[in-house]
Amino acid sequence: MTWLSTAPTFRPTRTVSGSYPRTARSGSATAILTPRGATAPLSRRAKAAGWFYGYKVHAAVCAVTGLPVAWTVETAKDAETTFALGLIDAARERGFKVRNAIADKGYDNSPFHDGCMDRGIFPITPLRQTPAVVRGDHKPRCCEHGEWTFAGADFKRKATKWRCPTGECKPASRWVKADRLHPLIPRETERSRKLYRSRGAVEREFGRLKHEWSLLPLRVRGLERVKLHVDLTILAKLACRLAYERAVALAA
Ligand SMILES: [Zn+2]
Repeated sequence: MTWLSTAPTFRPTRTVSGSYPRTARSGSATAILTPRGATAPLSRRAKAAGWFYGYKVHAAVCAVTGLPVAWTVETAKDAETTFALGLIDAARERGFKVRNAIADKGYDNSPFHDGCMDRGIFPITPLRQTPAVVRGDHKPRCCEHGEWTFAGADFKRKATKWRCPTGECKPASRWVKADRLHPLIPRETERSRKLYRSRGAVEREFGRLKHEWSLLPLRVRGLERVKLHVDLTILAKLACRLAYERAVALAA
């Protein structure tokens, strides 16, 4: 599941476990995209084939409220990446200003990274072991003075700045173009780690949908029916939350 961040100004993602969010629709700052596996692998056994296949819910979840803002159901064999940018676009069309897209390793690829950058969104994903990573291409530059350190990011330039630890090199700093190996919020920064931790909100939301809202077990077959079941489940949850928020607002 992907969480979309919607605040006009950047705020660190906070997860809300157990507490109710403010009603403001524009209140959230980070969007999280459906993680693979951890989201809802709605699998069922295919009797004839004798092996597992199933459906997966991909969702963009608001990092502040924990609520799904866009979702889709696909068969499990389809790659996560294919839907992630579509979910982000759907969330944006619904009025959420997405600032960060926090997603699991399955989304760590160039199309997702570049698609986020094109939309002015910071992608946050763990590093996937690819040949480039095995080669160490993601590591900071080193010189005789040691490993270069992160010295800031420039969104307009779409690059991060790195500095020689002693400043003795000429030039003492260099810009590195942002790509999935070198994201604008570098993975080694506390900010990146903190944002990624907020992805736990998605897992909790899916847990609630499964156990409290009967997303599982599936009692229907066929993609269209499964989609309808998921839509109705999530919409019921959102409708209940809306009613609750309105009641709280009235009481205040
Ligand atoms: Zn140096």
